[in-house]
Amino acid sequence: MRIGVIGAGQLGRMLALAGYPLGMRFMFLDRSDDTPAAALGGNVIGAFDDPASLAQLVAGSDILTFEFENVPAPALETLPDDPPLWPPASALQFAQDRLHEKNLFAELDIASAPSRPVDDIEGLRAAVTELGLPAVLKTRRLGYDGKGQTVLHEEADIDSAWEMLGDVPLLLESFIPFDFEVSLISVRSSTGETAFYPLTRNHHEAGILRYSLAPFDDAALAAQARDALDAIMRRLGYVGVLTVEFFVRDGKLLANEMAPRVHNSGHWTIEGAVTSQFENHLRAIAGLPLGSTAVTGHSAMVNFIGHMPQPESILALTNCHLHDYGKSPRPGRKLGHATAVTTTVEARDEALRALNRLDVN
Ligand code: AMP
Repeated sequence: MRIGVIGAGQLGRMLALAGYPLGMRFMFLDRSDDTPAAALGGNVIGAFDDPASLAQLVAGSDILTFEFENVPAPALETLPDDPPLWPPASALQFAQDRLHEKNLFAELDIASAPSRPVDDIEGLRAAVTELGLPAVLKTRRLGYDGKGQTVLHEEADIDSAWEMLGDVPLLLESFIPFDFEVSLISVRSSTGETAFYPLTRNHHEAGILRYSLAPFDDAALAAQARDALDAIMRRLGYVGVLTVEFFVRDGKLLANEMAPRVHNSGHWTIEGAVTSQFENHLRAIAGLPLGSTAVTGHSAMVNFIGHMPQPESILALTNCHLHDYGKSPRPGRKLGHATAVTTTVEARDEALRALNRLDVN
């Protein structure tokens, strides 16, 4: 089976690494062939909305998928019905715009932080009056890894926040003094079968995921999260892996963001679950039976951001697995990750400390 992937970043790379044992082959569309996935399949070089490049990808694929959510809408409109695109384009449209995403959460009774759309400076002042401060001003589109957002602490911050972000449609959101953050990764097959991984507990710094711990055992929170993702998957006729990130406050979940794709907070599933999120995404879009989402131990996944540590320093750690995406270093860029899988929570926490001591970020 030939899988055409829009995007050739590390997520595309890890999809291909999971798909080859299943007999799949891969073709990637991206703007250059200097990408983490380039060595793992055929490469179509072109803009994501270039009709000729898309036609080439379509011609070489039995199923299409994408590995990032900012695929331009015009690209999706030109795609034929065959080969099928999974997840469905409607999921991208919700995930691409924070206002549409908020509206979807509200429609499905999924709690999220109070927010107001903002289109001009007067609107920003009115939203600050309604929501109060602190609050987070976010671009509605094209935000990721904490980019395109700024926190307003006092009214004096309004002008500088507007200066920084004000040339595009925005959303002002109440700042949530959360207790911690979790995410849930689910998968739904084209046959309608669904599966859920256990909750992952995530730690972000400056808007970027630094590390994840799994499984995070909290039956009540897991049930709330599963209900939310189940509702989204049904509403969208979803096929593939879906991730939702949540804030946890006083034992309740507030949905922060959904990603219609495999997700950084699920990288631990490569070694820490019976079937990885990447393999399950491929099984789902190919209509194959889903694999078990049971854990194989306690996992700690640490991102390497900005520069990679020496491989020896990671591989010397017991039960630790290195993933180097082969990217050139740049501040704030995710270059790789490592996952330690242990038999006890104590050993996992020790592994996390050891990985953090590498002082790599
Ligand atoms: P986002 O790009 O919206 O996922 O935001 C990245 C990270 O910034 C989140 O995972 C949080 O750690 C933090 N953040 C975003 N929105 C809020 C908020 N409304 N209140 C508190 N922290 C936030």
